[in-house]
Amino acid sequence: MSGRDRVRLGHGGGGRLARSFLENEIRTRFRSPALAALDDAALLEIEGVRLAFTTDGFVVKPPDVPGGDAGKLAVCGTVNDLAVSGARPLYVSLALIVEEGFSMSGLGDVLESAARAAERAGVQIVCGDTKVVGRGEADGVFLTTAGIGVVDHGVSLGTDRIEAGDRLIVSGAVGGHGAAVLAARGELGEMTGIASDCAPVTDLTTALRGLGRDLRYMTDPTRGGLLSAAVEMVSGLGVGMTIDEPSVPVEGPVAAVCGLAGIDPLMLACEGRVAAVVSPGGAGPALEALRKLEAGRGAAVVGEVVGEPAGRVVMCMAAGTSRLVVLPEEDPLPRIC
Ligand code: MG
Repeated sequence: MSGRDRVRLGHGGGGRLARSFLENEIRTRFRSPALAALDDAALLEIEGVRLAFTTDGFVVKPPDVPGGDAGKLAVCGTVNDLAVSGARPLYVSLALIVEEGFSMSGLGDVLESAARAAERAGVQIVCGDTKVVGRGEADGVFLTTAGIGVVDHGVSLGTDRIEAGDRLIVSGAVGGHGAAVLAARGELGEMTGIASDCAPVTDLTTALRGLGRDLRYMTDPTRGGLLSAAVEMVSGLGVGMTIDEPSVPVEGPVAAVCGLAGIDPLMLACEGRVAAVVSPGGAGPALEALRKLEAGRGAAVVGEVVGEPAGRVVMCMAAGTSRLVVLPEEDPLPRIC
């Protein structure tokens, strides 16, 4: 078996390897129209009711990242995929795969955290499963979820609605979750003062839905960060996107961790942020609506949809230079969620 025949960490990340896996191994085999968009959630219509349906696995290492432990992450990650799809998240399933010997109180902490996150996000955990595997056959605790939400009448979001002139908005500073994972791993030395941005984004997406047709598309910039999200948004479209690097909010401690690790904060995961594309006229009202919320106080316009280069993202830097964004083959930071 050659190296190319083996699954790599990057196949589950936010880089080109993961993208090619989805194209070659998933899209070719599972041909349902709802899957085709490979978006945050599948949109389904059942007897006149539009539903968003999503599933996710959580293998974060370590499982007790400050502000974004495995339980909170599992619930928020699931809720957020529904919320950015334009849905009102309602129900979540939670399944555990636990390694024999894992601390019972540690497992209790993960579950307690999931329960608190569900309460905060206004969703109910309604079914689940527990499996235990032998020592060394898994790494601590893994969680898998599914989530269902209802998409209200009149909500119509999609990358096909993105037009030249539209603006890209982020709801707050980027890279917070990835930086917290990096700090918690201790590879950069003992570090304090960094917590994940992990949170439900439901209030933010509800505020943005108030823009009506001026809201084109929303996503949550998780694996691969804002840059990956931007690249995915315009991939295959007849328009491109510019990102104005100095306009992207990055908190000081996150910038410091990124500097030490040599990682671009725009490639680090957020777990409580929304990246939204809005019409040119919708940008002002979107910022106003977001900034009224505690979680949206740092909202900023960070980019613009442009005619060329179609399907690509260009990063405009402070010095007046720009570069075409090419995602790395592998995510710089595996197992962040
Ligand atoms: Mg997502």
